[in-house]
Amino acid sequence: MIPAAFEYYRPTDLSGVIAILQEHGDDARVMAGGHSLIPMMKLRMAEVPHLIDMQDVAGLTGITIGDTITIGAMTTQAEIIDHAGLAEAAPIMREAALQIADPQVRYMGTVGGNVANGDPGNDMPGLMQCLDAEFTLVGPDGERSVKARDFYEAAYMTDREDEEVLTAVSFAKPAGGYAYEKQKRKIGDYATAAAAVQLVKDGGTCASASIAMTNLSDTPIYSDAAGAALTGTSVDADAVKAAVAAMLGDIDPVEDNRGPVAFKRHVAGVILARAIERAWSRA
Ligand SMILES: Cc1cc2nc3c(=O)[nH]c(=O)nc-3n(C[C@H](O)[C@H](O)[C@H](O)COP(=O)(O)OP(=O)(O)OC[C@H]3O[C@@H](n4cnc5c(N)ncnc54)[C@H](O)[C@@H]3O)c2cc1C
Repeated sequence: MIPAAFEYYRPTDLSGVIAILQEHGDDARVMAGGHSLIPMMKLRMAEVPHLIDMQDVAGLTGITIGDTITIGAMTTQAEIIDHAGLAEAAPIMREAALQIADPQVRYMGTVGGNVANGDPGNDMPGLMQCLDAEFTLVGPDGERSVKARDFYEAAYMTDREDEEVLTAVSFAKPAGGYAYEKQKRKIGDYATAAAAVQLVKDGGTCASASIAMTNLSDTPIYSDAAGAALTGTSVDADAVKAAVAAMLGDIDPVEDNRGPVAFKRHVAGVILARAIERAWSRA
């Protein structure tokens, strides 16, 4: 299919993007890597009369490493994978990015597009919940910051206003062991279930645990209860079981071409247990 006709814009600065968004409201959409938006336009699931390509907009790329890590919205998944400093400071980012789609998609797909899209199947939103990230949004009224854990409202519905652009994601340098574990039907596929886990070990005890899952509800799921089930334990079999049970209480998968609800719940449990065990072995 080919998309419906649209006007194409290629501004070079953020104020130019925001001006077009203000002029056309809901009829305008920004495009980052285009690897979610263009397929939706071709399938006629999205109609975008005014398409704003952000490839030439200055100041939206780059990765800054410190106690806080900041990644510009237009940074691609391939750039995340290739960044040695990020791989050392937040290795879960690389582990997760390597499991997104395939190299062709990752050369174009951006972190900003992945988190702004609102598709429950995208991997970065769950990861951002695990890392307790903040998203920077810039609009006509200036800049604001939203916690990833407060950003997602329903499938494709987020806290972002039509006239706002997501410019960066940032999070505290994560501590402890990590794992991003994903079950998919084949290479390049979206998750049947995926888990992002960060665990801090103090002696033989889990001092803190942050756990989120992907594609098991219409938003990514951060489970406080799953983390609490591990905290203060030695992450033995009973604690892992309790964390899985807590997460199963928080997810709400629906039947689709990745399987019926019972299968998805089973896969979620297996994937989460694997992720916890791997994160603990690295903690
Ligand atoms: C074959 C295939 C397989 C894939 N598999 C996976 C997978 O396994 N896991 C996964 O996570 N993703 C997967 N994807 C999606 C891919 O990672 C996309 O690139 C990504 O979801 C969107 O990033 P993008 O830069 O291409 O955004 P775009 O497609 O350009 O935009 C997506 C949406 O976000 C909005 N948007 C983009 N950037 C901004 C911004 N800075 N501020 C505000 N709004 C913005 C756009 O208006 C649009 O609504 C796959 C894609 C394909 C084609």
